[in-house]
Amino acid sequence: MRALITGGAGFIGGHLCGVLLERGWSIQVLDDLSTGSKDNLKDYIDNPSFRFAVDTVLNEMVLDRLVSECDIIFHLAAAVGVELIVKRPVHTIRTNVEGTDCVLKAARRYHRTVLIASTSEVYGKSANIPFRECDDTVSGPTTKHRWAYACSKAIDEFAAFAMAKETGQSVYIVRLFNTVGVRQSGRYGMVIPRFIKQALSDEPITVYGDGEQSRCFCNVTDVTRALADLVLCDEAAGQVINLGSDEEITINALAEKIISVFGSKSTIVRIPYDEAYEEGFEDMQRRVPCLDKAARLIGYKPISNLDQTIREVGDYMRANPIQQ
Ligand code: UDP
Repeated sequence: MRALITGGAGFIGGHLCGVLLERGWSIQVLDDLSTGSKDNLKDYIDNPSFRFAVDTVLNEMVLDRLVSECDIIFHLAAAVGVELIVKRPVHTIRTNVEGTDCVLKAARRYHRTVLIASTSEVYGKSANIPFRECDDTVSGPTTKHRWAYACSKAIDEFAAFAMAKETGQSVYIVRLFNTVGVRQSGRYGMVIPRFIKQALSDEPITVYGDGEQSRCFCNVTDVTRALADLVLCDEAAGQVINLGSDEEITINALAEKIISVFGSKSTIVRIPYDEAYEEGFEDMQRRVPCLDKAARLIGYKPISNLDQTIREVGDYMRANPIQQ
């Protein structure tokens, strides 16, 4: 099988390359390196089954050729990180909506299967825990940029299903929950690499808001194996599927855990959301997936645990201090 991975030089994309190469796929990555990095691909660069093009998915000529040469598209190219999304709202909407539009148009021309990496942000402010794929989505006001990200990904989902309905093509929509692991950068706001970096240097751990908001963190190795399984599961075509972990932890508890794992001297400081992001910022209070559908379709069950992931990320950061 030949995969085109857009955004393949990103944190998740880089790990997905590894999984697919191990399974005998040949890989073409397309990435503009805006938030991705060649470091995420350095293990595969000499592999004859791996190719890498530095360009944007908005370059329709390049995209056309790469789509014509693949069997399946993993569309991972997107704006990432709440901090970046809030700072660059126009770029976020353009990257997500126009980027996916270009990918779908090319997929349609060559009748290719597409897996779109969507996000648990789509559930928005829903308090209906755990989030099920068939649930209503609850967005915030259009004056708050955070929700533009959620809505832009929801539009991507609508567009993919619309294409599938008109053409009969296979599309897979995967809503990723908080995904963590080695090589993730804290540069775009992600909490785990940030807290670990702070803990390793005994700097204050920056908890935003009151810290009672919660998340479920899943190791990227569980997520990428599941992506590779899903795209070959015919029954999953035409569906939305949650992927992540359902082990919930508050951000306060996460900060304490990270301090204790590394025996750090860090203290915890609480920073108001207005200061951390922008005035009037609205967070998601809880974010927990229902994983029943993925379990039924591909036998999905995350095997990694958070303590182990935190240790792995810490070891990686110690060994690669400049990349963080
Ligand atoms: N967060 C935090 N300190 C940081 C970065 C993030 O307290 O330095 C919080 C953030 O406000 C959110 C949670 O950690 O409530 C998870 O943030 P992340 O950006 O990793 O993911 P998302 O908000 O998309 O779930």
